[in-house]
Amino acid sequence: MSQSFRQLPLNEALLQNLDSLEYHSMTPVQAAALPDVLAGHDIIAKAKTGSGKTVAFALGLLQPLNVRYFSPQALVLCPTRELADQVAKEIRTLARTMPNVKVLTLCGGQPLGPQLGSLEHGAHIVVGTPGRIEDLLERGKLDISKIRTLVLDEADRMLEMGFRDSLDNILAHTPPKRQTLLFSATYPENVKALSAQFQREPKSITVESSHSQSSIEQIYYQVEKEQRLEALLAVLSQQQAESCVIFCATRQDCNEVADALADAGHSVKALHGEMEQKERDQVLVTFANRSCRILVATDVAARGLDIKELALVINYHLARDPEVHVHRIGRTGRSGHQGIAISLFTAREQYKLDAITDYTGQTPLVEDLPGHSGEEPEPAPMVTLQFDGGKKQKLRPGDILGALTGDAAIPGEAIGKINVFDFCAYVAIERSYVRNAQSRISQCKIKGKSFRVRKV
Ligand code: ADP
Ligand code: MG
Repeated sequence: MSQSFRQLPLNEALLQNLDSLEYHSMTPVQAAALPDVLAGHDIIAKAKTGSGKTVAFALGLLQPLNVRYFSPQALVLCPTRELADQVAKEIRTLARTMPNVKVLTLCGGQPLGPQLGSLEHGAHIVVGTPGRIEDLLERGKLDISKIRTLVLDEADRMLEMGFRDSLDNILAHTPPKRQTLLFSATYPENVKALSAQFQREPKSITVESSHSQSSIEQIYYQVEKEQRLEALLAVLSQQQAESCVIFCATRQDCNEVADALADAGHSVKALHGEMEQKERDQVLVTFANRSCRILVATDVAARGLDIKELALVINYHLARDPEVHVHRIGRTGRSGHQGIAISLFTAREQYKLDAITDYTGQTPLVEDLPGHSGEEPEPAPMVTLQFDGGKKQKLRPGDILGALTGDAAIPGEAIGKINVFDFCAYVAIERSYVRNAQSRISQCKIKGKSFRVRKV
């Protein structure tokens, strides 16, 4: 059965925009949640990453929005800045046919000053991380006493990150008569308690959590503890994947594994929750633009990130929770692409493997560890150049593209993703054109200014 958005009580501007985005039918979580969301009910929804949860709540925020009223009407809380940025971006896209909707992101790791400035101009929808929102509330700089809807996105993750007290404090600033939408990939006790405390007769929605496994090949290798790193190097030499995420248990493991892989000549970066924001931006940019092949990450850091077409996922350590395992491997084999998920486990981790087997009902394929292929790791196809200026210097993607391709200096095809941040910008360039690009940028002016670039 087709689940058209047109059967929902949505205004024509939103419906037309959904058409133009080619969102023709609702995803299962959208079909299950939106009627209740639009009717103003509370919901608690459990659904896997990539199931379309953002649209499921964003339409619920946008449909009743009064753009003439410049006070926050909705607050969306997310565990990390990357997720908040993604959510804000998606809401802006969905709102682009509604004139003058202001969506503001308020997250830690960024200077407070500009955020205070933006707040003074008013915002309809605020998206942020609990720490920064709490901070702004304490300073009396943010008023959420009139919000209609509160969204807790990835609630389990926020609790895992220790945001329970912040959530309590934030919720105390919201009106009692509000709609509360809670989204979570898992339902541990602490999420149930959160729901019981802050929601009113929530409708519970669960969407099939097992990823359709058909396009993912899963292989397990049993290893000795001391052998883990060697095993990883062997696996990588066999796979030579274009892009790969390696999951580790802790931040320290991430750093150690990333360092060891770098020493072995791999194009690799670590991503974990305690990195400085600027550093994390850089890591994510370089991975997405194909100038870094391997990301070594903790679950917290990698969760919910919209990484497309990941060829390989490696579990350096098995996840404690089988649901987390399914989420991890669900990052590969997306949209029809063939993906491979490889997991290393020690005898002591056998119980985790048993839990995964119970949960998925699939017998794991445990194979003998392959030897090292002897092949050298391949460098990433692209190199990232960083500009010492960004939006605040009025630098736009088109300017960068123009400067590089002007006078046919560098072919357009050799230029990859361009990301412009407030105070810096990144452009991915095919390896063989990097020098050329560097010298060109150092010689020319963009918007009358000289910019410096350096290789990331
Ligand atoms: P989640 O938060 O559940 O992990 P997202 O909300 O980030 O998932 O959505 C995942 C992807 O699916 C996004 O790229 C989004 O643009 C896309 N998407 C969402 N809803 C639809 C839809 N109805 N039709 C097509 N694509 C959709
Ligand atoms: Mg999401």
